[in-house]
Amino acid sequence: MDKAALRIRRVTFSWRAVFVMYALVLTTATHWPRLDLGPSGPNDKLIHLFAFGLMPLLLWRSRWIARLGLVFLISLLWATLDEYSQSIEMLHRWATWQDLLANVLGITTMSLWIWAMRPVGGVGNRMRLALHNYIIEEIFSQWRAWAVLAGVFVACAVPLIALWPMLTPTGITGPFYLALIIWIFTTFLIWSGIRRAYYQSVLKHRDCFSCSESCADLFYDDFGRSRCANCGCDVHLAYWLESASPRLAVFLRLAIIPVVTSIVMLIAGFMLIAATALAYDKLISLGYGSPALPRLVRIIGTEKALMQAVDLAGLFMVFALATRHYRTKLARFYDQPYRCRKCGHDLRGTPTSAGAGRCGECGQHFARSPELAGAGYIEQ
Ligand SMILES: [Zn+2]
Ligand SMILES: [Zn+2]
Repeated sequence: MDKAALRIRRVTFSWRAVFVMYALVLTTATHWPRLDLGPSGPNDKLIHLFAFGLMPLLLWRSRWIARLGLVFLISLLWATLDEYSQSIEMLHRWATWQDLLANVLGITTMSLWIWAMRPVGGVGNRMRLALHNYIIEEIFSQWRAWAVLAGVFVACAVPLIALWPMLTPTGITGPFYLALIIWIFTTFLIWSGIRRAYYQSVLKHRDCFSCSESCADLFYDDFGRSRCANCGCDVHLAYWLESASPRLAVFLRLAIIPVVTSIVMLIAGFMLIAATALAYDKLISLGYGSPALPRLVRIIGTEKALMQAVDLAGLFMVFALATRHYRTKLARFYDQPYRCRKCGHDLRGTPTSAGAGRCGECGQHFARSPELAGAGYIEQ
């Protein structure tokens, strides 16, 4: 087995193991005989949303299936079979359309997010993203990272569990949301800390993204090109450039349209809900038992918990679209081959040594653009 394949096996192993464990736990939980959270229990539709939302993420990162569309379809099929099989009589559970809809919403939302976070843009931006992807893969190839993140995740979930009774269809209130925000924020902080440590080390050792060996001592030509001594793949200095956030003015210019678009989408969504409510009133006046009453209206009438899941999923889907939109615009910024990533200064006249230099305006490190060398370096 070649060195690149060995690395793939190493970085996917933990995801595969977690996926298999998760699938077993989820299937056991959904088929546990006579499990019933009760009418006053927590909103089980939100639990369905999150539980099945994790499926496509774990399956995607396991790299068993290379196409995102297929990951989406398999997850849908899984969720359908899982729900359908609950109608087996001896389990004393029942399959419901509402549960299935919540599962589908979770899977769709997560698949949309995976799509939104996929590499976009040209060579320059994809090299930048390859560094981020490499760091994530390396971090999650270690059980220590899983343990730390899981520990923080569980520790911060304690207030949430204390507030668990609030997670009812009618009772989600301020403290619950506050605990949720603190939970996400703390996990994010710890994650950023772990990530920063890896990031510094990868830049210093110039890890090869195919085999993880150091490329720090290689000879680089005038275009910043070289070849990994261990696995033989093409490498470029642009892989290990420290990230430069664009200046505030540039950031605002890039972010404004995605932000406005998502606000418009949210307002349109609320108006649609308002219009649906009016139509719903009209429909419900037909009488509840009337055969003219669509099944969906009947579901809405009895399922406030489901509607909460629909709202939440809708919100996250809009955010995913806005994120993708912003990332595409940002890619265009990073793909300008002659421009400094930080200040936008034209770098064509700036001297370089072995393909690397510093911006004369702001001091930011840069590498000769791989486009100038005319080589297709990136395969990710
Ligand atoms: Zn290599
Ligand atoms: Zn600059």
